[in-house]
Formats: sequence, C-alpha cells, structure tokens
Amino acid sequence: MAKKLYVPGPVEVRPDVLAAMARPMIGHRTKEYAALHEKVVNRLKTLLNTGGRVFLSTSSAFGVMEGAIRNLVQKRCVNFANGAFAKKWHDVTLRCGKEADVVAVDWGQPVTAEVVDQALATGKYDAMTLIHNETSTGVMSPLAEIAAVMRRYADVSFIVDTVSSMSAVPLDLDSLGTDVCLAGVQKAFGLPPGLAVFAVSDKALEKAAATPGRGYYFDFVEFAKMDEKHNTPSTPCLSQIFALDHQLDKMFAEGLENRYRRHLRMAEATRRWVVDQGFTLFPDPGCCSVTLTCARNDGRTDLELLKKLAGDKGYAIDNGYGKIKNEAFRIAHMGDFTMADMEELFGLLEGLLPRVRK
Ligand SMILES: *Cc1c(COP(=O)(O)O)cnc(C)c1O
Repeated sequence: MAKKLYVPGPVEVRPDVLAAMARPMIGHRTKEYAALHEKVVNRLKTLLNTGGRVFLSTSSAFGVMEGAIRNLVQKRCVNFANGAFAKKWHDVTLRCGKEADVVAVDWGQPVTAEVVDQALATGKYDAMTLIHNETSTGVMSPLAEIAAVMRRYADVSFIVDTVSSMSAVPLDLDSLGTDVCLAGVQKAFGLPPGLAVFAVSDKALEKAAATPGRGYYFDFVEFAKMDEKHNTPSTPCLSQIFALDHQLDKMFAEGLENRYRRHLRMAEATRRWVVDQGFTLFPDPGCCSVTLTCARNDGRTDLELLKKLAGDKGYAIDNGYGKIKNEAFRIAHMGDFTMADMEELFGLLEGLLPRVRK
C-alpha cells in the first residue's frame, strides 16, 4: 500500500507533479530541451537570488557534495559537523583522497559563526563544508552570521548543503557569498529523488579549473561549458526536469513569500503540537528547523510500535535517524504540505499515542 510520507525525504509528492513526469521524452540536444533548461535555471536563479551559475545534476545530493570536494579542495578542507549528514560529508571528503578535519558540534546544536571563525583562523584550510539544515537533528544553523565571517576568508571555498532548506526559506546567495550551494529535489522541492540543483560562484569555477582530479561526471568546468548552451554534460533526468518546471510554476504562482510563510506556520504549529504532547524539542532553542521538527522521545513512548501502527493506517512516519534512532523522532513539514496535512497527522498520532505509551 502506498503510504503518505511524513518522513524528511523523500517527501510526499503530489499527483499533479507525478503526472508532469509522464510527459513523452524529448532529445536533450535539441532546441526544445535548451529552452526548457534555460527557463528552469532562470527561475532557480530568481529563487536563489543569484546572478551566478545554476546547474542541474542527474544525481542525488551526495553526487554534488562529492563533486564540490573534488572541484574545490586543493589544500585541506574543514567539515563542520553537528549531525549525521555533515559527518558523512567528512567521510566523503576523505574518500576523495583529500586532507580534511572534522569540527564536531554536539547533536542538537547549531554550527555557529564563532566555531567557523575559530577553525578558519588557523589558516590551514582552503575549503569548508556546512550543512545549513541538519536533517538528522532538525537544526538550522545561522547561515547569514556564518556568511558574515566567511567574508573575511575569501580564499576559503564556502560550500553549503541546503538540501532540506532550499525553496522553504529565503536564500539570498549573492549576499551570502556562497561558492557552492546545493540541494536534492526530494526534500523541500517536493519532487521525486534523482535530481540535484546547485549554484556555483565565478570564483569557485576559476578555482575548479585549476584543481586536478575533478573526474568527469561532476566536473564543474564541464557543467559551466554546457551551461553556455543551456544544457548538461550528460543526459539529464528529463522526467524530473519536467516535474521541476511544473513545480516552479506552482511556487511562483503561490508566491515565494507565501511559500516561506506557509513553511514557517507549519513549523511553529508542529513544534507547539510536539510540546503539547509532552515531548521536548531536540534542538537547542532558537535553532529549530523550518522544514522538519525533531523531538526527544519522552521515554514512555514506543516509537517503533507507533511507526508500525501509523504504517498500518497508511502513513510513513520517522523514528529517528542514525545514533538517535528511537531516542528522537522527526516530522517533516515541507514541500507541498499545508496546515491541513499537518492537522491530519496530529489527529492520527493523537489517536495512536495512548496505545504506545507505557
Ligand atoms: C537528504 C540529505 C542529504 C542526502 O541526499 P541524497 O539525496 O541522499 O544524496 C544530504 N544532506 C542533507 C542535509 C539531507 O537532508
């Protein structure tokens, strides 16, 4: 049975989006594709407030996360890590054969501007990676404050994963000054997985051109070359791009400000609901994510059983990720979800909670 997905990725995809994927194929080296590509990319630039380049990658987010490392780390990279995705990025960096250090921050806490400043002041690094919205813990780090610090380290590539925040919160890349900002579309974009979008600064493209060992599939220089023709280096996942085109139509029809407000409202309501049920929020106050809520288990609730019972009723819910599995759980509120979807979930869980509590 198909379940309604309240897990933080892949998120629930609306039937109109699935239908957009069912369009017949077109050749990707055609004027028709170039026109579609240009239209999609131009609206992504508006969404991200950037006059720089935006590329489409037929991969999940980790492809571009690896690509950013291979293109931009020449000397040594620092991976800031306050959760599972950040920690994995450190592993990816090492597996690319790069010198790297991890700066670990406790799970539930944000990466702060001070932590970034302290690490970069050592002068050891020419690149840093940051997860804006740590999906494993529901923590959103203060990107604007970190960006202000990064201005003092112009020689350090500023590589940011906004996989679970892009399109749900305002991202003004030209004022943030990111070198790479990337996302997979199966989170806040509300699309099926398989496509990643990423913005690359001119400075980063210049550096990439001078970095050996970029490989082919994620070579940013190849992406830039093909971008001139509104195209991609290899055959793109056309179905997903049809769906992204459709989704961008919907986003701009809703209005970006309305979209951001809708996400904030769902986040505030979910945090309130979680606390009303006797749970506590997993993140430190002030750094709760806008796209998912992570709550600490109260010790009385059998999350495994809750997940099973919800599943039997046709709902997929989460019971924690990585080392906090069953100690915390996450509720996603992103993409095309509205308050009505959240209330539907709250009602379901309120019916089930008495049965799973000791
Ligand atoms: C989901 C997620 C990823 C991984 O994306 P894949 O699509 O599995 O490659 C990376 N970072 C964050 C913050 C995520 O939420």
